[in-house]
Amino acid sequence: MDKEKVAAILDEIGTLLALQGENPFRCNAYHNAARAILQLEEDIGRVVREGRLKDVPGIGSTLQEKITTLVTTGRLPFYEELQAKTPAGLLELLKLPSLGPKKVKALYEELGVDSPERLKSACEEGKVASLKGFGAKTQQKILEGLEFLNRMGQRVRLDEALALATALIERVREFKGVIRYELCGSLRRRRETIADIDILVSSTKPKLIMDQFVELPGIVRVLAKGDTRSSVEVDRGVRGLTMQADLRVVTDEQFPFAQHYFTGSKEHNIAMRARAQQYGLKLNEYELSGPKKRIACKEEADIFAALDLDYIPPELREMTGEIEAAAEHRLPVLIEEADLRGTFHCHTNWSDGHNSLEEMVQRARQIGLEYFGIGDHSQSLTVARGLTPERIKLQHAEIDKLQKKFKDIRILKGTECDILPDGSLDFSDEVLSTFDYVVASVHTHFNLSESEMTARIIKALSHPKVTMLGHATGRLLLQRDGYKVDLEAVLQAAKKHNKMIEINAHPRRLDLDWIHCKRAKALGIPLVINPDAHSTADISLLSFGVSVARRGWLEKENVFNTKPVKQVIQELKRRMG
Ligand SMILES: [Zn+2]
Ligand SMILES: [Zn+2]
Repeated sequence: MDKEKVAAILDEIGTLLALQGENPFRCNAYHNAARAILQLEEDIGRVVREGRLKDVPGIGSTLQEKITTLVTTGRLPFYEELQAKTPAGLLELLKLPSLGPKKVKALYEELGVDSPERLKSACEEGKVASLKGFGAKTQQKILEGLEFLNRMGQRVRLDEALALATALIERVREFKGVIRYELCGSLRRRRETIADIDILVSSTKPKLIMDQFVELPGIVRVLAKGDTRSSVEVDRGVRGLTMQADLRVVTDEQFPFAQHYFTGSKEHNIAMRARAQQYGLKLNEYELSGPKKRIACKEEADIFAALDLDYIPPELREMTGEIEAAAEHRLPVLIEEADLRGTFHCHTNWSDGHNSLEEMVQRARQIGLEYFGIGDHSQSLTVARGLTPERIKLQHAEIDKLQKKFKDIRILKGTECDILPDGSLDFSDEVLSTFDYVVASVHTHFNLSESEMTARIIKALSHPKVTMLGHATGRLLLQRDGYKVDLEAVLQAAKKHNKMIEINAHPRRLDLDWIHCKRAKALGIPLVINPDAHSTADISLLSFGVSVARRGWLEKENVFNTKPVKQVIQELKRRMG
């Protein structure tokens, strides 16, 4: 059992206990343990075997016992009993931002609500509004939340889908009879959210491939098993939740055509077919052929070449001008993860991060970053333990001390400073002057009108000490839409005041989105890829920001944190005045 699975179960236990009305302290012990397990740098099985769980901070003796049982036997009776006691639908209800365990418990006990459907009818009948502690406003919020969940359907976040798909691919590549394999679909294009996993294999023995596929561990249901295509549901590690995965088998000759076809997007494929027609050719998932003969293509790139196009990377296949650009040899040379030399906007346990400053810096060194910027929360964000000016002085002293210890990385003093409702910043200019840079973000008062929110952000961008705008829309993918804001006006303001815009790389945000990245590039606004890390492991989330940047046609020089440390420090100094 891997650490992700163990952590998911511990997390679920914490939630199930809360639904049983357990005290928050006990529930949090499970959530904290889940986090601690995720942070482990080695195999959980080994830690358990060698009796070293007790050395992991944040895991008490009761939890050590339970984790040991779970890891050694693959089961945990305590967890199974809790599951049996709780209707599965209650966990679904917790996805609504307006509902916590306490409210879900009340809905279940008072109104018998145990599923989103029942909750919807209870709201429509006005029963929820009359419950103690709810009211008409909450009822309205719940209805809106249900509508949002419905709209999102069964989509899965990129990071989770990629992890599930990678686990499948690792097995598929070992199958007997596989010649080539590829992860296709929107995952290959790195869309923000994914509906299903598409795997393509070339082989001369399709039946043998199918037999091996439907037997893979982690598959909870076989939806269809055919001669060249099978569909299954894979376990997402959270009870009851699954994701669909399809495997197709083609001949090796067909492979590049199928690879292109099943990568999509649909709109891109339609345009490619039309281009083939202009050449008197037919393009489909099996071949590129003329009236007399087929055009042999060994690789996907050969298909593009046959149509006089440069190779179009999968992230660009969204029908936003990539075919014209490929024909005119003006596709961008897309940024790559290896181009990133540092980052900004990382949290430590000075505010709401889980790791110490030193642990975060150590990880950044391991990854090989040249500079690492701290961006803990500012004073008014008390829920995230925002730093007061006094604590900032102490943090800066600690950074100075650490900097003496580590010569191979430059630690930058930044802040994620709240943009207050009126657009002013959460610190005085005097305090702001003590930082190397300022990330300005909105964390409160999301319900302003679009014009108020736009004016609020533009005012912040006009502040001379602001370096960059953090998570521009505040969206949480599959959880909530962003606040209403006129992004074009925000980008224009960023251009006018010479500010940078963050691509928040955390897979729950991916904000600025790729469409507006392309627009920012056109306006000449520098973008910055930040992980918004709240733990050492989160620093690696930078790769998802790179995916967004690539989808947004960004090249190395469009992204500020590809610059070498010397240049970055100079530029920041110049900006801070
Ligand atoms: Zn933030
Ligand atoms: Zn943050």
